Amino acid sequence: MTATILDGKKLAAQIRDELRAEVADFIENNVEVPTLAAILVGDDPASDVYVRNKVTGCEQVGMQSRLFRLPAATTTDELLSLIAKLNRSKDEPVHGILVQLPLPPQIDTAKVLQAVSPLKDVDGFHAENVGRLVQGNPRFVPCTPLGIQQLLLRNKIETAGRHLVVVGRSDTVGKPMALLAMQRGAGGDATVTVCHSKTRDLGAVTRTADILIVAIGQPQFIKADMVKPGAVVVDVGIHRTEGKRLVGDVDYAAVSEVASQITPVPGGVGPLTVAMLLVNTLTAARLQN
Ligand code: NAP
Repeated sequence: MTATILDGKKLAAQIRDELRAEVADFIENNVEVPTLAAILVGDDPASDVYVRNKVTGCEQVGMQSRLFRLPAATTTDELLSLIAKLNRSKDEPVHGILVQLPLPPQIDTAKVLQAVSPLKDVDGFHAENVGRLVQGNPRFVPCTPLGIQQLLLRNKIETAGRHLVVVGRSDTVGKPMALLAMQRGAGGDATVTVCHSKTRDLGAVTRTADILIVAIGQPQFIKADMVKPGAVVVDVGIHRTEGKRLVGDVDYAAVSEVASQITPVPGGVGPLTVAMLLVNTLTAARLQN
């Protein structure tokens, strides 16, 4: 079997087209332009690229962005004080606030994420938004799982009653992915299993997956013999090889021979993550008007 490619780049462009019209409509009815504040602390090159993609994404759909670059030595209090200002912002509206992770080690990340107003928390990391997702009443869902759900829905990949295995239990990807997939309704109703580094005989579990979602941060870790023939495979991982090539957490060439559908790296989950940030920013602007 040679898998069909699940093209995240193309789908993200389609979602941006839809958003452009919605943003124009919002501006016409509300006078304000939906605005995202992105905070980047330090000079990690990967984070720099991610933030720039997000800022460019805003421009592409007619939203505004304000980029705050803070030095690597920024303290928790300094960052909290900027967030407090952006939470209040009245003269120059800010509807969504994004703090690019990871933050330098001296900063208390948990404290910073809880300081963002839950109504401006477009990454969906605030406890109030996580709690709402757990209770089945989501407001902001973390962008990567939300993008994966859109990928499944828009490619008409049925989740109801199917075994969906998430490998990885991070607060940003694995956990919210599992919660989203077990919600009632479209894009949910899956029977969900979550695996992590302590899972015994990982392959025995992943081989039972109808839909396998991998977010572990280990280059090309998932091999063909860990995948059930005909499964749908979604690869969240991003790694740069020594040859400067981008690869995921899945051994793409080999797994493509077993899976029915698979996301590439690059061009799979990454562009959808950015598109969902834009969706969440428009949602934030609507909530505040
Ligand atoms: P993370 O916070 O590092 O968490 C990794 C998770 O994988 C942990 O739960 C860990 O288990 C588990 N794990 C690690 N090695 C494992 C193994 N050998 N077997 C089973 N489970 C294992 O990672 P993350 O933030 O979710 O990111 C994962 C990957 O996705 C990274 O490559 C990251 O760059 C990428 N990413 C991409 C996007 C995108 O938009 N495409 C967005 C976010 C992240 P324990 O909990 O037991 O330690």
